[in-house]
Formats: sequence, C-alpha cells, structure tokens
Amino acid sequence: MGNNTRSHKAEKVIERMGTKLNRQMVTSLAGCVHCGMCVNSCHYVLANPGDPTYAPVYKADQIRKIFKRHYDWTGSVFPWWVKSKSLFTDEELEELKDIVFGKCTNCRRCSINCPMGVDYATFNRMARGLLVSVGVMPEGVAVVSKDQWEIGNQMGVLKEDYLETLEWMEEELQSEFDDPEIKIPIDKKNCDIVYSINPREVKYDPRTIADAAKIFHFAGEDWTMPSEGWDMTNFGLFSGDDELGGSVARRLFEKTEELGGKKLVISECGHGYRSTRCEGQNWGGVEIPFEMESSVNTMLRYIKEDRIKVDKRRNTELVTFHDSCNNARSCGLYEEPRELLNLVCSNFQEMYPNRAENYCCTGGGGAMSMSEYTNRRLKSAKIKAEQLKATGASIVITSCHNCVDGLTDLIRHYKLDMQVTQLVNLVSNALVVEEKVKVPGIEIPVTVEDEEFKGRKILVIDDEPDFITYISTLLEDNGATVIKAYDGEEAIELARKEKPDLMTLDISMPGKSGVEVFDYFRTDRDLKSIPICIITGKPELRKLIYERPENPPEGYIDKPITERELILNIRKIFEVGYHDEQSSEKRL
Ligand code: SF4
Ligand code: SF4
Repeated sequence: MGNNTRSHKAEKVIERMGTKLNRQMVTSLAGCVHCGMCVNSCHYVLANPGDPTYAPVYKADQIRKIFKRHYDWTGSVFPWWVKSKSLFTDEELEELKDIVFGKCTNCRRCSINCPMGVDYATFNRMARGLLVSVGVMPEGVAVVSKDQWEIGNQMGVLKEDYLETLEWMEEELQSEFDDPEIKIPIDKKNCDIVYSINPREVKYDPRTIADAAKIFHFAGEDWTMPSEGWDMTNFGLFSGDDELGGSVARRLFEKTEELGGKKLVISECGHGYRSTRCEGQNWGGVEIPFEMESSVNTMLRYIKEDRIKVDKRRNTELVTFHDSCNNARSCGLYEEPRELLNLVCSNFQEMYPNRAENYCCTGGGGAMSMSEYTNRRLKSAKIKAEQLKATGASIVITSCHNCVDGLTDLIRHYKLDMQVTQLVNLVSNALVVEEKVKVPGIEIPVTVEDEEFKGRKILVIDDEPDFITYISTLLEDNGATVIKAYDGEEAIELARKEKPDLMTLDISMPGKSGVEVFDYFRTDRDLKSIPICIITGKPELRKLIYERPENPPEGYIDKPITERELILNIRKIFEVGYHDEQSSEKRL
C-alpha cells in the first residue's frame, strides 16, 4: 500500500476492506475455482450473450483481485499466479462502481448455483459499502441514503404526510363499512402487533395500508402503527452501508420497544423483511425483546385460526406468483405465500423456474433508484418478461414493493398484458365481512347452530339474579359453560380463578360499579386480554366506557335483550360464523 500514486479514495477503500472481512466473506472470496457453473444463472448474462463482463465470476474477480493483493498471502507473494491486482486511481473506482451497482442486483441466484458455496452478492454488497464510504456511488443511491438518514425513511415522506395518509385510509374504511369504530390506531401501547410499512405505500399505494387495516380489524387484532420509526425498509442493504443499516433498524426496534409491542409485523417487502428480520440486529448491534413476522405469515395465521373468513371465488382471474429474491432465496419464504394464495384465489399458475431458482425482477438491489443503468436493467429483464408471458396469467402477485416497481416497469417495456398486485390486496378482496350487528329493534334473521359456544367459558356479571338466570340459560343452551358473579368483587375473584373466554358485564351495579370493574379488568396484566361484552339497562352510562380512548369493550348490548341480540354479539366476539337465512353463504 505504499504506492505514492494511489489516490486517497483508493487508499481508504483498500484499508476499509480489511475491517469488513469475516469468515463468510473470506470463504467466498477465496473459494472460487473458476468452474463457470454460475455464469448462466445470471439474468444479465442471459440478456447479453457473448459479453464476459456480465458473468458473475468475472464481476466477482474484480473485487477478488484486490482482496488477494492485500489480504491473501498468495496474492502478495505470487500476484501473477493468482491474478491479484491493487487499486490506484479514482477512474478504477468508477469502473468498479459500474460493476457492483450497475451489473448486479445482488439477487444471489448465482450463489445457489455455485458448487463451492461462493456467495458473490455478499461481497458485492461489501464492495458497494466501501465505495459509498468514499463517496463513489450512483446519484440515486446518494439521494435515497440521505433521505433515510435525515428524514427517517427512504422516500422522504414527512411525518405529517404519513399521519394524514393513515387518517385518510381510516376514513375510507369507516365510510366503506359505515362503521366509525374501524380505526388505524397510532402509537397505541402494549399491543399484540406493531405494523410497519414501506414508504412507497404512503406515497404511491395507500390502498395496501387500508387493506391491511381492514384485515387487522376484522381479525379482531389488537394492533397499532408507530407515528415515527415506521419505515421497515432499509437502504443500507442496497448501499452496503452497515452504519445506515444499523441506524434504520434501531429506529424501528426502539419504537416498537417503546410502544411495548409484542410482535413487529413487516408488510410485504422483500428487502424490508430481510433487513429488519434477518440482518437488522447484526447491523444495529442490538437484541430485541419482541418477535418479528412477515405480514404474509400473519394473514395466513388469521385464516388458519379462523379469525377471518375468505372466499377464493372472489379472485377468479388467472394469477401467477413472483418470488422476491430477498424473501425467498435469502429468507426462505417459499411456501407460505403459496399456501395463502391457494386460499384466497381460485386460479393460480406457477411461474417456471420458481422458488430458489426464480429470476430477479431486475429492479432488486436498489436498481430502481439508479437511473443511469435503466437501459441495461430493462434489457436484462428479457428473461423475466419471457417467464411472465409463458404463464398466460393476467396478474402477477408478489410480496415485495420493490418487485412491484421492477415488474411494472418491465411489463410496460415489454408490452405485456399484465398487472402487478400483492397478497394483501387479494386477501382483502376475498375477505368475507360480517354484516354489521344491528341495534335492538331491527330484526336480523339468523339460524342458531347447535352448541356453537361449546367449550367456551363465559363469566356473567350482573346484580340481578333473574337476569343472570335468563342469560345463563341462553348461553348454556348454546353450549357455553357459564360462571356467575353477582357483584364486582366476586367478578374479579372469579375472573382471576377461572380465566373465562369472555365476560358479560353490567355497568350499573351497586358497590364496586361496573365501570370500575371494567377499568380493573382492562388494566390487570392477567385479565386485560379477556373480551368483554357490556350489557346495561342504563344507556347513559355507555359514554363512561366508550369515551375511553383505548381498549373499548368488544361488544355492547342494551337491556332488555333478546336471544338473537345476545347470540349475535357473542358470536361476533368469538367470530365463530353464522348462517344468514337469506343467504346460504357462510359468514363470519
Ligand atoms: S460457480 Fe462458484 S466456483 Fe464456479 S466460477 Fe462461479 S463462483 Fe466460482
Ligand atoms: S447476484 Fe444475481 S445479478 Fe448478481 S451476478 Fe449473481 S445472478 Fe447476477
């Protein structure tokens, strides 16, 4: 390194390379036997036959020779033998930039086709990071990185715009379902789920936020969205800047922890999922006390747990599925999206090859932000366009916002008759939503299913023995096991001892009032998750409960009650489904 003609930037790149080398990196840098088996796995090669500079092994060698010259003894002693070579000029750095940013999307398809286990994308990312550290990068990378450092998200979305969009989507949902109770909760504490999104959703695709909110609402989820630190994408993955990667990941983790969220759910985004779930803790140097999950798994879980009902006949067009490189090859999300797809649409056609062998959308690795390589990117998309066309599908589904953009651009370029959408949109469209339970006085035809509350334990709390007898009989007739409490103290004692599945609560009891009991249940660590259905003869007290900004009761009925109202409300809370006599369709 003592060459006096070496530029300052080249000097720094070489020096910093030494700090980035770990066992995995060195194994990949040293392990190539130049067999050439990776060559035809790259979409750039397939679109540029005869040009060796696109071959993964050639591109990797441009980084490898620097490593060998400076960090491998063979390269220091026999540079001619192992073809090691140093870096000297800023022009050479520009040439390296053209390769690591402009000729590779870090898709890792070549990695899985290498018999030696060489993971080129890993050290290609390292090389990107080294160049970024000396200011050598495509302009788009600089702009997006700056936005994520300074504004906190990679599309420069301001906090007020984000919050306004959530409010707008909440209003849309309320108006669609004529229900002011549908909320997109912001910064709600101690929820089961904190939902993080891609800023693209705020800027270009807010319907995905509304669709997710709709699904959370009808699943009866206890969820929230953070007012800050909400961006789950991480440009550090693309730029190779581990400091940016760590800072972005920490923001999201710290906000989730501050809110006391039990699980961080990451909306459909390949690089967001990989950055947050798989890499974020390493980059950020933190350990987190909550779980993380892709929203694909969340939606699948809701269906499997019968928390939402879907009807696949609502999505009948022929669809195919594109595996995001980051979700699939890098994080193993292969089967879950397919399982979900088969539950929510009736006409699914695989694309070939698929899963680990699928081709990149060609917009990966931050390529969509690097406009100087647009022509090269679209040319390399030829193989992807052929793959899409061969399916005959009119819709391609992908669980990645980056892939949505990449695919949309190539579909336009290759004039394919196809649309791109995401699983959340399909699930939302297939969702069977319960007709709103009407207030007393309006008859709702309903067929009672035998013992539909079988196995459910319900605590009935009321100071009127006759009323307790009446309601207990109705519930027991429908299969429930009923426990009875005649005042607040007894209710608390029984709730703690019996841990019921649901409680009905009169809020106008003497002694410890129902409102006090309600507050007690909602703040008690062991009891707060038990759903409560308020049953009261004093509607004027209703506001004492509903004026509370958080944790409203799950159900509400005015006395006198009818069997129909009771069953519908309890059923709604349990979400066990009912048969409407006017339609044989099974509903929530
Ligand atoms: S397949 Fe692996 S060992 Fe063979 S040339 Fe490619 S990177 Fe090197
Ligand atoms: S990581 Fe993907 S784009 Fe990069 S060389 Fe390998 S196959 Fe090609």
